[in-house]
Amino acid sequence: MADFGGTDLEAFRAEARAWIEANFPASLKGKPNPMIREERATPSADQEAWRKAMGDKGWGVPTWPAAYGGGGLSPAEARVVQQELNRAGAYNPIGGMGVMMFGPTLLEYGTEAQKQEHIPPIVRGEIAWCQGFSEPGAGSDLASLQTKAVDKGDHFEINGQKIWTSGAQYADWCFCLVRTDSTKKHEGISFVLFTMHQPGVEVRPIPLIAGSSPFCETFFTDARAEKKDLVGPLNGGWTIAKRLLQHERSGLTGAGGGLGSGGRSLEDLAKEYVGVDEQGRIADADLRTRLVANAINFRAFQQTAVRAMMEAKGNAGPSSATSIMKNAGTQLIQERHEMTLEIMGHQGLGWEGEDFTAEELGAVRGWLFGKAFTIFGGSQEVQSNIVSKRILGLPDLTQSK
Ligand SMILES: Cc1cc2nc3c(=O)[nH]c(=O)nc-3n(C[C@H](O)[C@H](O)[C@H](O)COP(=O)(O)OP(=O)(O)OC[C@H]3O[C@@H](n4cnc5c(N)ncnc54)[C@H](O)[C@@H]3O)c2cc1C
Repeated sequence: MADFGGTDLEAFRAEARAWIEANFPASLKGKPNPMIREERATPSADQEAWRKAMGDKGWGVPTWPAAYGGGGLSPAEARVVQQELNRAGAYNPIGGMGVMMFGPTLLEYGTEAQKQEHIPPIVRGEIAWCQGFSEPGAGSDLASLQTKAVDKGDHFEINGQKIWTSGAQYADWCFCLVRTDSTKKHEGISFVLFTMHQPGVEVRPIPLIAGSSPFCETFFTDARAEKKDLVGPLNGGWTIAKRLLQHERSGLTGAGGGLGSGGRSLEDLAKEYVGVDEQGRIADADLRTRLVANAINFRAFQQTAVRAMMEAKGNAGPSSATSIMKNAGTQLIQERHEMTLEIMGHQGLGWEGEDFTAEELGAVRGWLFGKAFTIFGGSQEVQSNIVSKRILGLPDLTQSK
């Protein structure tokens, strides 16, 4: 398929537009993506039909190989699909951790049998995955993890505890880091997969300050992982984990996708809450300057992310540079949340009640959840360490992930 603009791409655009027009239910136009939180909420018939259509087409993961059900498109064609979805007011119903981090990692490190088994259900949006990495004593220093997997012949028996496991209460499967050799640190870790629907797995949701419970404590008591679901070599899981984290960081901020650009623009909000001067500009000159600076940085971030994606074409995927992008992107997200509250003033501080609009109630929750962006996927300080060590070549003074 053609990679650049021109006739081929325009023909493909016409094809994509026609397919979306024929398959995207009109009732969903402009609606938020119900799959984004991986909640196994009961979908409407139209939501289900749209997930199935996109899943069968493979366009939810447009650049994944067609051999496993993916779209098999070039990056340029994938961008066209996204543009045409935007144009039609349609969301991509295929997402979650399977798409963002586990799938790309398995495509790189899995056996043919593992790919055939696990990739197609991700492509069709049928299976929700969760990430069993962090433990109470192993966050930034992830390689200190203690959850043990013991070889029982045809399977591994797993005992231990994970924490902050996002979406564990909705997940069907877990990709998990386990200790298979206690005499070594990084070289004693393996990467295994197992179903969450088994007696040895217990999940306890943890309430978050933002009001919901997006993550859990997850306990394993004689849980079972089949031998065929060991990814990579025994005790070779650390390399795979690092790769997966690069995909996670890249997915969190890739092309500005995670930058919370939904809802009204900050400029529109400011005009309403702060007012305008006689020239129609936002009345507060200092706020105006900061909004413009954020907008410029946001645009530059998006352009850089797209350029990085184009440059990575033909390479093996994301690199340590994702740590730079994660820090830059999360800083922008947090700035936008801060400014939203500042613009709304005391109306942006409501938690409940009829005195506040849904947008105002959402703003304070968004601001609180925004704090998590500089923690998950590896904290801001840890990303700075990675940049120092792996990109700037400064002396290695830490053992962080
Ligand atoms: C909303 C949310 C969702 C999450 N989802 C998941 C999930 O699905 N699966 C999963 O496995 N984990 C998940 N996490 C966990 C996340 O990856 C960890 O919180 C993160 O890696 C930090 O680890 P920690 O919380 O143990 O903090 P710690 O490692 O204890 O760090 C505490 C503080 O010390 C700093 N610090 C630590 N080491 C260094 C160092 N070497 N140099 C400088 N500063 C340092 C950190 O930056 C941080 O500010 C989630 C976290 C959040 C907030």
